[in-house]
Amino acid sequence: EIHETEDRPEDLKPRIPVVTIMGHVDHGKTKLLDAIRHSNVAEHESGGITQHIGAYKVKTPRGEITFLDTPGHEAFTAMRARGAHVTDIVVLVVSAVEGVMPQTIEALNHAKAAQVPIIVAVNKIDLPEASIDRVKQQLSEQGLLPEEWGGDTMYIPVSALKKIGIEELLEAILLQAEMMELKANPNKPGVGYVVESKMDIGRGAVATVIVKNGSIRIGDYFVVGTTMGRVRGMFDDTGAKVSVAYPSYPVEIMGFDAVPEAGDKFHVVESEDFAKEIVAKRLELKRIEETNRIKKIQMENAFQSLSMENVKELKVIIKADVQGSVEAIKHSLLKIENPEVKISILHAAVGAVLESDVMLAEVSASQEGSAAIILAFRVRADAMAKERAEQQGVTIKRFNIIYEITDYIEGLLKNMQTVEYKENVIGTAEIREVYKIKDVGKVAGCYVTQGFIRRAENVRIYREGALVWSGKILALKRFKDDVSEVQEGFECGMSFVNYENFKKGDIVECYTREEVKK
Ligand code: GDP
Repeated sequence: EIHETEDRPEDLKPRIPVVTIMGHVDHGKTKLLDAIRHSNVAEHESGGITQHIGAYKVKTPRGEITFLDTPGHEAFTAMRARGAHVTDIVVLVVSAVEGVMPQTIEALNHAKAAQVPIIVAVNKIDLPEASIDRVKQQLSEQGLLPEEWGGDTMYIPVSALKKIGIEELLEAILLQAEMMELKANPNKPGVGYVVESKMDIGRGAVATVIVKNGSIRIGDYFVVGTTMGRVRGMFDDTGAKVSVAYPSYPVEIMGFDAVPEAGDKFHVVESEDFAKEIVAKRLELKRIEETNRIKKIQMENAFQSLSMENVKELKVIIKADVQGSVEAIKHSLLKIENPEVKISILHAAVGAVLESDVMLAEVSASQEGSAAIILAFRVRADAMAKERAEQQGVTIKRFNIIYEITDYIEGLLKNMQTVEYKENVIGTAEIREVYKIKDVGKVAGCYVTQGFIRRAENVRIYREGALVWSGKILALKRFKDDVSEVQEGFECGMSFVNYENFKKGDIVECYTREEVKK
């Protein structure tokens, strides 16, 4: 990873605050962001046309402030979940007409969880029904006691529409920032976070970065997530060229090799070679993580295949250390009485679990109403067997004590009868193209015809109305990006765990599956 040097106290300089506006829908977040933006001294000077770049900086007579202009707590928390702590202060907008609403409280809780100080903007005070005191009362109950009532929260009455109280709000923000003594070291390679990104026709991949520490300069090489680049151009939200971006500044940067993601960390590095080296390492790490994720899905599949409903017969393969154990296990299994599920012993022998045992379990479990399991008593599974079991979702259960086998099987049978699954189809997609990609395998080019396709859920594939396969999604992509969900009306690429026999015209059905105890 990239080493960030610690800053000596003497290198730290004050930096401007970064603010996020939150609040209930329709309470005036967007309007307030507009009003603040138009109060900008610098804007009148430059006369530029405002661009939406995801953040903007306002210049007030008392100092500058950066505002993120994707309001709301969803983006705020999604960024924080990725470790991108960019917001210093939250402005909670509450309509003085409607008062505190569910999303007000939600926003408040998100800000509290992040330990970010809150300033309340009581909006819509131009309306006759407005009640500032009611908002104060309601929020006091949530722990935001106003300063004038002996607490430490600033409440600023505003009208985003009539542009009343905007200066006071900006002053309150600067006052709060002053108390926080926000500092950074501008004299070192820049570190920041991507807040917005896009592919721009003509300019290529561009992204807005908020500088967290250090400075970003034209010509700097950088690494961001698993991509890199060189700063070819920097612009502010009026489209004006910027040559150096200091701490807390938002800048739109040109020169990315690929479009980064919101929340990605941006690091200026000393050279192109170093950037390449870091990217290569991160890609390798990502590949390992992906492999582990797939393994996990396969393990979950293994469990699912065993807790399937409608199982009428549990087929058991026994591998044990000595013949005496084999006999004892057989005997104890035959004593288990269960009226609904029959236990049959497919194979019982001395020795390690082999690949052939796994294959036997596979074919046996694929029969209607059957489940199969391998019991390994004081023996191991060899490497080939383990690998195949993981791939095919066959369960190999190891034991050292005989009665534990009986308990386990009894529990399993009980589970099969008491657990039911509630399924809920959430979307369908049509396979419109089948691509063969080197080193990856077959990928289905799909179009989501209804609802959602979610990577984490289950899928079934139908051909001419008949079910041909069910299992899990391996990868879900929009263009080159891995995504967790694709909505109706969009195209996507899909591959499946251990299944490649899909065809053009097949229908993919995505469904959630929940265990319900009978
Ligand atoms: P958001 O959903 O929180 O971003 O809210 P908007 O900024 O879109 O505002 C919602 C509605 O409230 C719009 O119709 C605005 O014109 C209106 N609105 C916002 N601020 C004020 C205000 O200060 N006074 C009045 N009267 N209406 C406002």
